[in-house]
Formats: sequence, C-alpha cells, structure tokens
Amino acid sequence: MQCIKDHLRKGCQAQSARFKLRPLSRALPAPFYIEGKRVRTGCGTLHFDHLFRDPDMELVVKSVSPETLKTATLVIAVGEGRTLGNVAKQVDELSGGAISAILKRGDLAGKVGQSLLLHSLPNLKAERVLLVGVGKDAELGDRPLRKIVAGILNTLKGLGGSDAALALDEVVVKGRDSYGKTRLLAETLLDGEYSFDQFKSQKAEPRALKKITLLTIKAAQAEVQRAVTHASAIANGMAFTRDLGNLPPNICHPTFLGEQAKALGKEFKSLKVEVLDEKKIKELGMGSFYAVGQGSDQPPRLIVMQYNGGKKSEKPYALVGKGITFDTGGISLKPGAGMDEMKYDMGGAASVFGTLRAVLELKLPINLVCILACAENMPSGGAARPGDIVTTMSGQTVEILNTDAEGRLVLCDALTYAERFKPQAVIDIATLTGACIVALGSHTSGLLGNNDELIEQLLSAGKAADDRAWQLPLFDEYQEQLDSPFADIANIGGPKAGTITAACFLSRFTKNLNWAHLDIAGTAWTSGGKDKGATGRPVPLLTQYLLDRAKA
Ligand SMILES: [Zn+2]
Repeated sequence: MQCIKDHLRKGCQAQSARFKLRPLSRALPAPFYIEGKRVRTGCGTLHFDHLFRDPDMELVVKSVSPETLKTATLVIAVGEGRTLGNVAKQVDELSGGAISAILKRGDLAGKVGQSLLLHSLPNLKAERVLLVGVGKDAELGDRPLRKIVAGILNTLKGLGGSDAALALDEVVVKGRDSYGKTRLLAETLLDGEYSFDQFKSQKAEPRALKKITLLTIKAAQAEVQRAVTHASAIANGMAFTRDLGNLPPNICHPTFLGEQAKALGKEFKSLKVEVLDEKKIKELGMGSFYAVGQGSDQPPRLIVMQYNGGKKSEKPYALVGKGITFDTGGISLKPGAGMDEMKYDMGGAASVFGTLRAVLELKLPINLVCILACAENMPSGGAARPGDIVTTMSGQTVEILNTDAEGRLVLCDALTYAERFKPQAVIDIATLTGACIVALGSHTSGLLGNNDELIEQLLSAGKAADDRAWQLPLFDEYQEQLDSPFADIANIGGPKAGTITAACFLSRFTKNLNWAHLDIAGTAWTSGGKDKGATGRPVPLLTQYLLDRAKA
C-alpha cells in the first residue's frame, strides 16, 4: 500500500506548485486517475487539501506619464478616423511624430478589433507600443470593450515581455464611469488568464507576462484602484468556480466539495464551516434531498458556511446552491450524448463558493450564510423511482414523476433549512432547467422570485457586473401544472414553461422568505467545442449584489 501512496504523492507533488494538492486521508473510488496515470486506490487514500491557486498575473494601478514609463509594452488607444487622445499625442510628440506618420500611411483605421504593434520608437522608455483601435468616441459598449481588452491580452501573451502598461484612461464606455469601466476591463484581463490543464501531461508553456499596469490620472487613482481590488476578488472567485466546475466528477463529488469548504474555513478564520453527512440529512427530515443521493455510492453532503463580517444584530443574506456533482438523470436516465457535461450540474454550488471567496477576500461588512445541497444523481437498485413519494423537511409531500428533475428536490430542503438563519434575503442558484437555455440562450440567466425589490436589486447588479439576468413571471396560473393526484405536489409540471414551473415548485418552500431564484443552466458553462468549460458565472452578478448591499 505504501508504494501506491508514494506514487500518488509523486503525482500530486508534481502539480503542487499550481494546485497545492496533497494526499491525506480520504477514500476515493478506484480506479482513480491523476496526471494521466492510472493509480489503483482500492484501499488507498487521497485528499485535495486546497484547490485554490494564486493568480498568475498581477494588476497594478499607477499614475505616471506613459512616455517616461519603463515597460515591455505600452498600450495606447487610437480612435476611429485615426484620432489620438492626449496620451497618444504625448507619446507621438516625444517620438518625433512616429505614430502619426505610421497612421498617415493608413496602417490602422482605429476600428474596434484592430491593432498594430510598433517596435523601438525613438525617445520612449517602452520597448514596444501597441496601438489598439477603440472605434468612435462615446459609442463603445460593454461588449466591444471586452473584445478590445481580450485582443490586447491575446497579443500581450504572444510577446516576450514580462509586463505591460495600459493607457486607456481616455477611452469612454457608454453608461460607465471610471470605476465601472475599470471593473469590466480588469475582470476581462484577469479572467482571460484562466486555463485548466491540470489533467494534461503536456502543460502549456509558462507565460512571460506577469504584470499589467493600468495607467490613470492622479484624480481617478482611488476609484480605479477600488475597481481593480473588486475585480481581482471577483476574478479569483470565478477561477475557483471554474476549477470546481471543470474538475471531473470522479474527483469532484459531494465529499470533495465538503473538503473544499473546510479548506476555505482554514484559509479564512472568519468563516464557520459545517458539513452535514447523509445521516444528519436524514435526521433533519430532508426526505427529498436524501432521495436524490440514495442511488449513488457517493453520499450526499449539506454544506453550511457562515461568514459574519457585519454587525451581530444584522440578518444575513443567504445563498443556496444546487450541487449535483453528476446528473445521470437517475432512473429517468438522460441520453448518452453530451452526458459528460452533467458534471457541471454543481455550477450553482460552485458559484456560491466563488462568490463567498470574493466576499472573504474583500472582507465585506455583511453577514452571509451559504448552503450547498450536494449529491450525485445515479441510477441503481437503491435509486429513487418515478412514482416515489417523499416527505420534504417542510412536511409537504412530493411525488417524484421524473428523477431527472432532481435539482428542485435537493434545493427545496436546503431552502427550508435556510429559514433557521432568518435571512433578510435568500437567493438560490441552480443549473435547473434546459427550458431556460431554450428561453434565454447562454447569455442571460433566468430570474424569478417572490420579492420585487430583491428582483430589481439582482437585475441591476447583473447589469452593473455585465453578468445579466432576466425576469420570468411566477404567476399563480402556472402553479396548477404541479398538481399531483397522490401527493401535495409533483416534481415536474409538463413540457410547457419548464423554467417557471421549476421555480413554482421552489416557491412552495419559500413562503416565509424574501426569495429569488437564478436559473444558470445556460450561463454557467459553455457547451461543446474548444471553449467547452465552466464560465464562472454568475459570480460577478452575485458579488455585485453583495457589494451593493455592503455599499463597498
Ligand atoms: Zn437532472
């Protein structure tokens, strides 16, 4: 056995610099794969102590004049029609008109998406100058800004220098002040750095780029710095969420998520963590939650994390996440094609982890309780059947008509559990319905709830964070679709308005709460293709909502 342990240890230590993994004592199912090696762990042990990895790139804010700055690459904006702002003019003058001469030749029109790299301009301390087109003045929206920034990052990644400086202070983005623009810019840069090659034998070459300086005027420095601080915490949260989502389901199961919670509690002393096991879940009377996990060899976990950054007397905000670490559909088995993507069915729980991380990093003066209902939905002799009736923690009975509508079955009990914290607002986050992808595609999260003020706050947070949601109705008429001849409520409401009837189901358990529900089935991950993977959404929306509440 010792040799297997050593083998695992070697495999883990090879990655420890980036992932800080180390084997301790937690049984995982065999066979277990790591680093492309097949390692039998029949009685072996492995434990991921701490998934979070430090960011590879640093963002700094400075107010110095760009022409005197020593940097590998200085990035400046050129408007459509080859117009130069003040910064570009200064650089141009100092270099003896080198930039305007090049523009005169017609090399760069200044349209969004265009760029031109210049080497060794005279009299400048910067080794290179990257001109980027920013389009017409005051017409730039969020999307073009993201496109410009992603383009810059892409170019910088391919260059040799270890640093770069962005002089984009003068670029105006519609509806955004200096803070709002910098938030978007910084998040796009930091999130653009994300990669996930933990399980590839051939790692990507380490990049030269380690630092990006955002140049700004003295008067705006404090606001720009505040935006960068917030953006860094959000990007760290998103990376954590994306890592959790991208991990394979044979590693990322409910027990693993419980361990991540405990590791977070170790890192941040202000966090109180409780992981309730299957026995406790049963004892609490969570018959609905328990039924979802009962078909799997991986036991369910209810993870409760409490952060008290606000006054003792203040009621907490509550985030409730769906954590189905793999969803086969259960006995109502899903079709095989694309089923691997059902590892993302814990995207709600992962986004709560990411948001909590951002809140902890920013030490927001609020109280927050996070409740994650984690289970694996598998078919087996012990699995729940269509037709089964279960009793929820609220006492209401549910007829399970389709075992693939399991998200609401775990969430309803977690929402009832949330009541004991007397939260001022509860938001549940779940990759809940395919119907939401049909309705809103992959750009917008579905939003429903029983409190107009809370809905408004979330809509505006989504807009500010460029991580938008859209409200769907929760009219009484839809409730009838959940009628069951045998129990208080059925767990599905037929093919019509699937996102709404799923929320109707949850609304039966949130009558005592100010509650909103985010359906992130379309936004939490990108399906298929080369960009397949977790997106880190809606960490920006949720963090923004909490930043607004904290007035930070
Ligand atoms: Zn399902």
